[in-house]
Amino acid sequence: MKVTKKEMLYEGKAKKVWSMVEDDDCYIVEFKDSLTAFNGLKKAEELGKGALNNKISTQIFKMLETKGIKTHLVDTISDNEQVVKKCKIIPLEVVVRNIATGSLTKRLGIKDGTVLPFTLVEFCYKVDELNDPILNDDHCLILNAVENIEELNYIRETAKKINNIMHNFFKEKGLKLVDFKIEFGKDKDGNIILADEISPDSCRFWDAKTNEKLDKDRFRQGLGGLKVAYEEVLNRILS
Ligand code: UDP
Repeated sequence: MKVTKKEMLYEGKAKKVWSMVEDDDCYIVEFKDSLTAFNGLKKAEELGKGALNNKISTQIFKMLETKGIKTHLVDTISDNEQVVKKCKIIPLEVVVRNIATGSLTKRLGIKDGTVLPFTLVEFCYKVDELNDPILNDDHCLILNAVENIEELNYIRETAKKINNIMHNFFKEKGLKLVDFKIEFGKDKDGNIILADEISPDSCRFWDAKTNEKLDKDRFRQGLGGLKVAYEEVLNRILS
């Protein structure tokens, strides 16, 4: 696929988004090597991290498409770039949890590593200045994050479906899918589709045997070995 970047429309913490000459209905997404945590307070660069996330996210999105999940991915065009369908991002971070860790344990006092009795879906408002506050259904509607409750229920059910598919996929690869964050967008026809990325930046993966952390917690907690961990996730996906 031959594509040409037109104009940079957005630069976030981990990605740049460009319009493209060949197709007005698509964007080019460039995965950066930057790492951030704690709402941007902790920062670093890790050469090759963007390319790893591009590869991992591409594999996961393609796998989800084969199971009937509609995503924005069109094609991966280079080590750290992909072409995606243009969509309007719904300003919700949809967090899905199977095992308690991170902010959940701090917020509710649930012991780290507790397997939850059922899948927990949480919505956070995607506004850095507010620190991505957690929202209930009424908040989502009051903020017009979605147009109606049916849309919110669709997002929740799709997130659970994605969790089931990914949970089984990673179990076969010897990884526990602890939790993850996904984002959805609306395409030009009004369809809600999976957008953004799914990578060790946005998921927590623990080795099934040792519980070793193979995700961005290595950076958040200063454990080192981030790239080796991401490479391990990619190798398991490809195995
Ligand atoms: N997450 C994310 N972006 C965010 C916040 C969370 O990708 O801005 C992911 C995070 O990697 C984890 C899940 O969502 O897989 C739940 O994160 P948590 O709420 O525990 O956040 P944290 O401990 O990072 O504050």
